[in-house]
Amino acid sequence: MLTISLFAPSSFLVQTTPVLVMKFGGTSLADPERILAAIGLIDQAADEGFSPVIAASAMGKTTDALIDLARQLDADIDGPDRDLLLSTGEVVSCALLSAALNARGRPAVALTGQAAGIVTDQSHGRARIQYVAARRLRSEVAAGRIPIVAGFQGASRGGRVTTLGRGASDTTAVALATALDADHCRIYTDVDGIYSADPRLVPAARKIAQISYEEILEMAALGAGVMHARSVEVAGRNRVPIEVRSSFNSNPGTWIMHADQIDIETGAGVRAVVDDADVAQITVVGVPDRPGLAHSVFAPLAEDDISVDVIVQNISHQGLSDISFTVQRSDYEKALAATQLTAREIGAQQVTSDPQVAKLSLVGTGMVSTPGVAAGMFGCLAETGINIRGITTSEIRVTCLIGEAHLAKGARALHTAFGLDA
Ligand code: ADP
Ligand code: ASP
Ligand code: MG
Repeated sequence: MLTISLFAPSSFLVQTTPVLVMKFGGTSLADPERILAAIGLIDQAADEGFSPVIAASAMGKTTDALIDLARQLDADIDGPDRDLLLSTGEVVSCALLSAALNARGRPAVALTGQAAGIVTDQSHGRARIQYVAARRLRSEVAAGRIPIVAGFQGASRGGRVTTLGRGASDTTAVALATALDADHCRIYTDVDGIYSADPRLVPAARKIAQISYEEILEMAALGAGVMHARSVEVAGRNRVPIEVRSSFNSNPGTWIMHADQIDIETGAGVRAVVDDADVAQITVVGVPDRPGLAHSVFAPLAEDDISVDVIVQNISHQGLSDISFTVQRSDYEKALAATQLTAREIGAQQVTSDPQVAKLSLVGTGMVSTPGVAAGMFGCLAETGINIRGITTSEIRVTCLIGEAHLAKGARALHTAFGLDA
């Protein structure tokens, strides 16, 4: 995976140094000490013969602090202003990293997403990268400078700064790796890799050596914060190998790769328990059961751009049924107001809601060929005294909706029951 040497016909030795994209998350750049540690890792990669290209997150909790600042001013800030504000966090990290590298004799150049050629659509707050115009990046690399690119941001064709969604510096990193045909992409974070459950919630969680794009994509989509879901989508599509590892030690991390490259025995059965507490549940009780009612409930939510997740509808009794669904907590109040309005319009009996629910999921591509996973999950939750309020499944996961208060207990019990404990 290291240096590729090509012999040109005229027997010149053309040496192309492989690009290594290194992404540093917020905790990995939280203070000057951590920034110096990141610089040590960049030096090391350069000494190993890579051309490092860096994607930097905002320092520590800077992005949260910026959001809070706007809130304190009661400024109803969204769209382009919000993106410009939030983009400053990553710019600070880049400038500091670049200055510190240059001061140590390692030529580097700090680039905003826009200067790095990251072109996005115009969906402020959750823009998608359309392409990376990588000429500038390539010429910096060719000139022997290390580009330090601000993660999480780009610019629309109209030239306005956009942000890509919370946690999206991972996506910047993978987009850079794709555009520069990098050897691989290293995600430096505050855990040693991807674990069989969030190690903060399940102390017995085990580091996974190799995981497929499908599995980590499912985990990310279900709420495992360790990787931004879209970064995994882009990496899978472009076959970018990713290593997730800690910036706090030199332990080997987790490799994300195609399922057919993973050791067969490693990939069997249930691979991880995923928890997500960012869930609120809304139930429309006593809906007159006639065609088009589900559409009446969900169409206004779609119009308000609210994503609906776990949907449960019961069999109707005496012409009435209940429809229950979940949304992210940030959408809860808006969704509740819209649903109360709909409920009155369609003559439903009442709307009940609970903003404190959570999702627990089991994930693993091997589940397709492992019967009894769902039954085992329900049995384990029952034995632990946890009531299930909704269920969804796919080929490679089972998700149960439960009360948030039971999340840690449920996650630990499932982790043990499915033989995942370290
Ligand atoms: P960064 O700022 O480096 O991007 P994040 O906070 O986004 O870091 O992601 C790392 C965190 O993800 C860890 O501290 C851990 O608590 C959480 N996490 C959730 N699920 C998992 C998992 N299955 N494996 C590892 N970490 C996980
Ligand atoms: N700083 C941004 C956030 O906190 C992006 C990132 O860290 O990936 O969401
Ligand atoms: Mg992250």
